[in-house]
Amino acid sequence: MATVAFDNSYARLPERFFARLDPTPVRAPQLVRLNETLAASLGLDPQWLAGPQGVAMMAGNAVPEGAFPIATAYAGHQFGGFSPQLGDGRAILLGEVLGRDGRRYDIQLKGSGPTPFSRNGDGRAALGPVLREYIVSEAMAVLGVPTTRALAAVTTGQPVRRQRALPGAVLTRVASSHIRIGTFQFFAARGDAEALAALTDHVVARHYPQAAGHAVPALGLLEAVIAAQARLVAQWMTLGFIHGVMNTDNMSIAGETIDYGPCAFMDAYDPATVFSSIDERGRYAYGNQPPMALWNLTRLAEALLPLLSAEEDAAIAMAQEALGGFWPAFQSALLTGFRRKLGLAREEEGDFALVRDLLEAMQRAQADFTATFRSLAEDADPRGQGTTQALFGAPEVFEAWAERWRQRLGREVATPQQRAAAMRLANPRFIPRNHRVEAALEAAVEHGDFAPFETLMAVLAKPFDEQPEHADYALAPQPHERVAATFCGT
Ligand code: AMP
Ligand code: MG
Repeated sequence: MATVAFDNSYARLPERFFARLDPTPVRAPQLVRLNETLAASLGLDPQWLAGPQGVAMMAGNAVPEGAFPIATAYAGHQFGGFSPQLGDGRAILLGEVLGRDGRRYDIQLKGSGPTPFSRNGDGRAALGPVLREYIVSEAMAVLGVPTTRALAAVTTGQPVRRQRALPGAVLTRVASSHIRIGTFQFFAARGDAEALAALTDHVVARHYPQAAGHAVPALGLLEAVIAAQARLVAQWMTLGFIHGVMNTDNMSIAGETIDYGPCAFMDAYDPATVFSSIDERGRYAYGNQPPMALWNLTRLAEALLPLLSAEEDAAIAMAQEALGGFWPAFQSALLTGFRRKLGLAREEEGDFALVRDLLEAMQRAQADFTATFRSLAEDADPRGQGTTQALFGAPEVFEAWAERWRQRLGREVATPQQRAAAMRLANPRFIPRNHRVEAALEAAVEHGDFAPFETLMAVLAKPFDEQPEHADYALAPQPHERVAATFCGT
């Protein structure tokens, strides 16, 4: 008999960290998609998961032996305002498993029914947002970005009421953990120093064991999270990814991208780009993501103050110094990422200006972010066509920049062929273009047609391959295809 070898370390923390409850069963669960590769890497049997017992588990209709279902408590700043109690309002952590890589992973159901943290919500998820998270999180994983993963999506056979009735679904999500900045804030807001210390020990042991040897482990933890999130957001920036809801409850302590809501990839380059329908002031616009990450990390530092030093002044000084590491870490990761995208293996003083000037020219020309960089990879190939300038309204702007770039490439050691190959691996041909994502969701939700979703998943599984038969998936949206806004679906 196939089972899941659960080992639930979070459930061994004090009871006030969570509420113990089972998922709420659904009427008619049906498997939409199972991530067999991920299942195998977690030591789970894909056949069992796709069978009646596995589907029942992933729909919340059966709790397998060894699971200890809980909804976790957390707080969070949402668009700048603090909510002392959020928590898993529509998610239930079944437990943790040890993957083939020896690491620990949460297995969580999202959309599995109400919990004590649901407030006015129904605890459910609609099919569209579940598929969006599936598509985008798996695309991010293949692109090499730390992220939660999608193990499976099931439909429930029950409608969820939003503006209108929509098909319901449950996502089985896998993460290094679901601990957020907001989890620390939950206990800090209650003055619960004991819980903060227990949470810190748990997170250090689980995610940042190197911090255990730090003279002040909480400071080691803070520094490590700052570094991890700086690197993460730098990766988002090099891909044109916009998270959309960077509230402190949506920022993973492990430095993974988490809580894909109204997220989207930018088409034409513009730092002010916002998709989320609820982000009216552009707080989480593409170009605001780095300062917002620092803002969130500052909230984490505040929550950790009591653990840094008994003397408040000393604790604040320590926190400030750690936070001072954010910009250097971010800038360095960003420059490393853009150097790779431009085929630069050496480091030169003028590289930052070269990147900045390209981005400025792209913004003026409203050039497509992903297509421009991929096209540069083709330009770098001596057999290539040199077609990038066609993406710029005024070709001479690009040509002036390209001349500087070619001179800079002249000081590299790689052959042009090697450079083009390396650049192709840094510049995807395919990203989850928002209009393609919306089209796949609409077909599934409105017509029960999952073929566009499956095709999109297949294309995005090989983002760096040319896939000429799917060339249209690489295209920027036509004006009439442009998606104006994305929704959380909550
Ligand atoms: P989010 O903006 O999706 O990260 O969610 C913020 C908070 O609202 C979290 O505490 C969620 O658990 C909760 N929430 C979102 N949607 C629902 C829902 N349909 N039912 C209950 N709680 C929800
Ligand atoms: Mg959330």
